[in-house]
Amino acid sequence: MKLAVVGAGIHGLCVARHAVQRGWDVHVYDQGCIPNPLSSSFDEHRLIRYPYGHDDGYTALVATAYEAWERMWPLLGDRYHIETGTLAISRRTTGFIEASVKAMQRLGIAVDIIDTEQAKALVPHVRVHDDEEVLWSPTGDALLAHRILVALVRTCREHGVHLHERHKVREGHEFAYADCTFWARGAWASGVLPSRQSIAYFRPPATWKTCRHPMVLDLAGDDGFYLVPGVAKSGWKLGVHRSSGAGHPDDIRSLTSDELKRLGTLARTRLQGLSSDMRLTGLACYYALVDKGRFQLHGSPRIMEFRGGSGHSFKFGALVGETVCQVAAGETDFGDAQKLLAGQVVI
Ligand SMILES: Cc1cc2nc3c(=O)[nH]c(=O)nc-3n(C[C@H](O)[C@H](O)[C@H](O)COP(=O)(O)OP(=O)(O)OC[C@H]3O[C@@H](n4cnc5c(N)ncnc54)[C@H](O)[C@@H]3O)c2cc1C
Repeated sequence: MKLAVVGAGIHGLCVARHAVQRGWDVHVYDQGCIPNPLSSSFDEHRLIRYPYGHDDGYTALVATAYEAWERMWPLLGDRYHIETGTLAISRRTTGFIEASVKAMQRLGIAVDIIDTEQAKALVPHVRVHDDEEVLWSPTGDALLAHRILVALVRTCREHGVHLHERHKVREGHEFAYADCTFWARGAWASGVLPSRQSIAYFRPPATWKTCRHPMVLDLAGDDGFYLVPGVAKSGWKLGVHRSSGAGHPDDIRSLTSDELKRLGTLARTRLQGLSSDMRLTGLACYYALVDKGRFQLHGSPRIMEFRGGSGHSFKFGALVGETVCQVAAGETDFGDAQKLLAGQVVI
């Protein structure tokens, strides 16, 4: 089997890694270098967590995604994740916490609703408001995204994958040699809305060192945020959860003064004990927005295009890699794969 992959983000590289493991002849093309620092996948970490509110399909798919990562680690020669646990916060009126807890309990995932006083004791560095509900689960990991990409590239190369850097493939191009082509162009794909997202890395105040450090998420409201603890020698990261739905991934990645000011306000509103002169190193990353955040697999088993993102698809990278190869090999039905990745199969 000869496979062409367009886009060397997490999805393209996971497909390539599984394909070469099957003995296929694989070519990967990226418009930039591989891995590409401008891709959505390129950062210190991306999170894998169960709370998905009312979206039972994706909650269930997280369990399947964890299994797929377990099969991926041996192919990469190491395990690139750190378990942090998950503390999710949301205003009571959103129903996000209650729905997440019900879905997680149905799957047998350890989870509790805790009161705001317990939350304040668990994460004293985060401001939790009295009108908010809080979920705590010991599950949830920081996937070490950059290291995963580097390991994928290294092991793809070792197994003979042909990596074509700075090779932009035009829309609709057909590779004469390929039995199957997989397109995963991230925020550059047609049919998606690129979304510019602000994040900031910072050094925590010394007083935080004694705190427990789970990931902290507020995913339901318009003023949502996430906080990733400094794991594996990375900095701490604060991100705006709301999708901007604006910009283009070729735009300059340094933050405007307005974007930086908004992040500073978010940090002061949500985090405690920050010194007035604390420096936020801000940058903009892009992801692709798709309708209702549901990943789309377009085309046919011979020419597939993955349009995903919406700020939550990295965790499913290993699963996408396996599923796409199964479809290309005729082991999984294309329609079933579409439903699975759209989070429409409650397993
Ligand atoms: C700030 C931020 C936080 C996020 N947090 C999380 C999280 O916590 N958990 C989670 O699961 N997900 C998260 N995501 C989402 C996740 O990172 C992305 O959905 C995922 O990485 C997308 O991977 P991809 O392979 O589809 O695209 P990308 O990683 O963008 O890769 C696409 C590649 O295609 C290449 N390309 C595009 N067009 C062409 C062309 N014509 N020819 C050749 N090459 C081309 C690009 O150069 C690029 O390298 C987050 C995203 C962002 C931006």
